[in-house]
Amino acid sequence: MFAPSSLVMLQSCSPFQPVLNIAGNLDCGVLFLCDHARNVLPPEYEDLGLPPEQFQRHIAYDIGAETMTRALAAHFHAPAVLTTYSRLLIDPNRGGDDPTLVMRLSDGAIIPGNGYADADEVAYRRARFWQPYRDEVCAVLDAMLATGVVPAIVSVHSFTNAWKGVPRPWHITVLWDRDYRMPKPFLQEVGREQDIIGGDNEPYDGALVGDTLHEHSTRRGLASLLLEVRQDLIGTEQGALTWAAHIARWLTPVLAREEVHQIRFFGSRGDGLRYQPPIPVHEI
Ligand SMILES: [Zn+2]
Repeated sequence: MFAPSSLVMLQSCSPFQPVLNIAGNLDCGVLFLCDHARNVLPPEYEDLGLPPEQFQRHIAYDIGAETMTRALAAHFHAPAVLTTYSRLLIDPNRGGDDPTLVMRLSDGAIIPGNGYADADEVAYRRARFWQPYRDEVCAVLDAMLATGVVPAIVSVHSFTNAWKGVPRPWHITVLWDRDYRMPKPFLQEVGREQDIIGGDNEPYDGALVGDTLHEHSTRRGLASLLLEVRQDLIGTEQGALTWAAHIARWLTPVLAREEVHQIRFFGSRGDGLRYQPPIPVHEI
């Protein structure tokens, strides 16, 4: 048995792991991602000069998203890949050369510890924290494709219930670019519910060149779904589990569609490509 001081020493000596891979059936046909799962920082960054309350806000992480991601992965016996660090350190859902990769100001809060992040520091954070997540997602998708079943990707996020004082009416929204294979049927499922308001590319547009789904879905021709759930609905564990159960119910018929498990290239509204009709899989 370790003395308490040895335990502390062991913890502080182990390197910070930026990615969490939850194992699942590689031939299950779906991979879950959570870009903004946690509000913690690697110890060497302390608190980036921010007071504790800022880490409870959406600027630090997507409230409720990790619980929903874990519940969905368990429901579908699917693998999941999550980041373990706050987006205040570096945003995994931005392109590697995006100027907002390391934010100096976020929703009214100045982030003192990022004010000193020069090009070398940004490059270090990209290599140490951002790239391992991209690499892990890529490796899991490769392993899933090797089973012969083409995986779909579901990326789980949450959004604030108001913006600049204006309440947001949607309970759940879907962000997407040009590949309609999952967003359209998923929104149809949500639309069958009496008391649930779905949003189509709300509260923002889903076409962002270089973001996680642009890299792993658009560029690889894999069908995907980016879900945003309003954070006041999922701020408790019970709320997040309830919403994960709703999502699982709506997702099941979507994942059963044959076209969701085919490789097709739609291009992006963001990268200037002209719309291209889906390519039948036998022509690829
Ligand atoms: Zn997010």
